Amino acid sequence: MADSRSELLNRPVPDDLAVLARGEGVDPRQAWLSAETDLNLAGGYDQVFLLVEDERLVTVARPCERWPNAVRINLSRTAVKEVRTRQGVGGGFLEVLVDGVYVEVLAFSNARADLFHKVCSKLKLWIGDRKPSVSREDDYNPRKCPKCGMTLEFKGDLCRRCINRGAVLSRIIRLMGPYAGWGILMLAILLASIGLLMIPPQLTKHLIDDVIEPAVKGTLTTDRAARDLMVLVVALIGILILRAICDSVNGRLSSYVGTQITTDMREAVLARLMRLSVDYYDRHSVGQLTSRAVNDTGAFNDLIRNVTGGYLAQILVVVITGVMLFSISWKLALWTLLPAPLVILASTFYWRRVYPRYFRVWDAWSRLWSSLSSILSGVRVVKAFGQEQREEDRFGRSNRYVRDSARRVEYATSLFNPAMGLIFSLGGPIVWYVGGLEVINNALLGNHEGLKLGGLMAFMAYLGMFYGPLAHMTTLTDWLTRLLTAAQRTFEVLDTSPQIVQADSAKTLTSPQGSIRFENVTFGYSRHEPVIKGVSFEVKPGEHIGVVGKSGSGKTTLINLLARFYDVDEGRVLIDGIDVRDLEMGDLRKTVGVVLQEPFLFRGTIYANVTYGRRDATPEEVLGASKASHAHKFIMRHSLGYDTYIGEQGAGLSGGEKQRISIARALLYNPKILILDEATSNIDTESEQLIQEALARMTAGRTTIAIAHRLSTLKNSDRVLVVDKGLIVEQGSHEELMALGGLYHRLVKIQTELSREPSVDALTILKK
Ligand code: ADP
Ligand code: MG
Repeated sequence: MADSRSELLNRPVPDDLAVLARGEGVDPRQAWLSAETDLNLAGGYDQVFLLVEDERLVTVARPCERWPNAVRINLSRTAVKEVRTRQGVGGGFLEVLVDGVYVEVLAFSNARADLFHKVCSKLKLWIGDRKPSVSREDDYNPRKCPKCGMTLEFKGDLCRRCINRGAVLSRIIRLMGPYAGWGILMLAILLASIGLLMIPPQLTKHLIDDVIEPAVKGTLTTDRAARDLMVLVVALIGILILRAICDSVNGRLSSYVGTQITTDMREAVLARLMRLSVDYYDRHSVGQLTSRAVNDTGAFNDLIRNVTGGYLAQILVVVITGVMLFSISWKLALWTLLPAPLVILASTFYWRRVYPRYFRVWDAWSRLWSSLSSILSGVRVVKAFGQEQREEDRFGRSNRYVRDSARRVEYATSLFNPAMGLIFSLGGPIVWYVGGLEVINNALLGNHEGLKLGGLMAFMAYLGMFYGPLAHMTTLTDWLTRLLTAAQRTFEVLDTSPQIVQADSAKTLTSPQGSIRFENVTFGYSRHEPVIKGVSFEVKPGEHIGVVGKSGSGKTTLINLLARFYDVDEGRVLIDGIDVRDLEMGDLRKTVGVVLQEPFLFRGTIYANVTYGRRDATPEEVLGASKASHAHKFIMRHSLGYDTYIGEQGAGLSGGEKQRISIARALLYNPKILILDEATSNIDTESEQLIQEALARMTAGRTTIAIAHRLSTLKNSDRVLVVDKGLIVEQGSHEELMALGGLYHRLVKIQTELSREPSVDALTILKK
């Protein structure tokens, strides 16, 4: 039981403070939630605890001049009507609504913002009479590895340190299955190439022992020696050429296979990303997914290329030259193993002292990466608030962290690698001495079978080949880890199954009528926090519905459920009497057209953007839709008209212009159910009315749901739904709701009062 407690939400209160609190009637052991903050309400550093019991909420801290008691705030659950966090500079406040005013409960620094957002959501449940659970799960921070605490590049990313290397490697090998034939061919060519590499030292041996030495001693005629030399030269050149051919062919093969696998993986990743539902994109940033689809898939190519040209080739060279060393002289080979214990010692040093330093480097890179991507994606806000210097400083800190951690590794390796090199090359002098003596002895004793000068020379050549790659092997683990992490990231995308899938026996909807019904729908983006709470309503075919409510009340969420971007937790959403979960996806998309709250335009021409949903539209249709959405006029103001090229996310257009283009796009799509989510919020009142009129014309016989920004535009609606805190609190016509004198009435009053201010909107009305 004890280890299921949350470290953050069950903070133990220090003994001295607990004693003081108990003295004032608060027992910290009674609290189901206990959170610690580092600021007091005056903004000074202080250790303050928020304790929440079943029926009350208190804060306790050590007494001081300003707060002479340990218990600083004491509120009963029933007194608290609402909870919220408010972000200030450098930190925020947790506030509760008591007697109609928000009072500050505690202050927190930015470092604890996540914690108190979580506390806030728990408290919301608590005042709603549903005591939430607090457990270890609440400590989960998606930016850190849950196992080792290392910073991750992205929320919920993989941890390089904790990745199961064996499992990933075996999966990669299985993935290469279809390429097994190519793999065997490459391996064969690689072995041939290494075999050829082994021949030149043998030729050297032959050159010295069988040609030069006998010729010098006079046991071989000069003519014969010259002829033999010629043969050796031709053989050597032949071997060099063959090797070059082998390497070139293998390079080609590995490039062919490697790029093919990478291309296949990239396509597979994108196909999967396209099938994943919207909720996946709530959890993963665009930067992260882009990097997975583009960079991480490259790991497969990298791996294949290294098989033929890099690490695998080097490992094979080490093994084969080892065999050659023993075949020339096993006694000498054993001598070269003399420094082996030192190698083991050095390796232990490496694994204990050097390798762990890489963790810091990875951690540092992840921080740099995420700090940079957050700065760049928010660059407009940075500039608008003049925070360039602060961001530079923040980036500078992560950048220096990268520098320092990289130095730590590189200082260590720059000591370690030469040391390893030294240890390995100690074999050389030993061979000189022992081998030299043996060659001399064999010559003096006339032992013709034993090691001769040529053999020794060949041995030394193999020894060079043997040690060369060994010195580079220290970078192998870093490379392999990076590669396996990248591969696993792509696997992770491929392994994610879409939350929203088409039912097996999906129903088709060929001629939709456009009726909508919500039956007791409950839904929340996270499991324990419903955003829509048991909503029911019905829309008849062709009805024009307006939806109003404060921001955050759940209007867009209703639309998300209707368009089945998310599935309901409870209840049903029906279109023409069919549960949207049973509808064929394609038919659902054709029936429901949405103009999103944030209009999105693709890079390309205006024409391509308007026809995005219907490539086959005729120019007349495009013109009709653009005119109805009042986009035509401003489009024609550009010299290229509909061929005007617009940049990333509609750069070069105003908010209102983007909205008009996206309305034209939806009209052209011609859905039976048209949804406009605050689609005219960036458009001035006059144009908005014109658009509404055009829509009324175009939307005749079409079910329309318009989430309205300005309530004045709702006068044309057949019916208005008023949403508040995930519930539909009122519905009826504009007149009925005004007469009711409820929330709608209040919202309208606020808006008319606001528009009495001499705003630009108001002026355009006056002019008319
Ligand atoms: P509205 O459109 O009425 O302004 P929304 O339906 O967008 O309100 O949001 C309702 C609530 O759901 C808000 O509290 C918001 O913070 C939350 N919410 C909206 N979208 C998401 C999401 N993708 N993930 C988690 N919470 C969300
Ligand atoms: Mg919204």
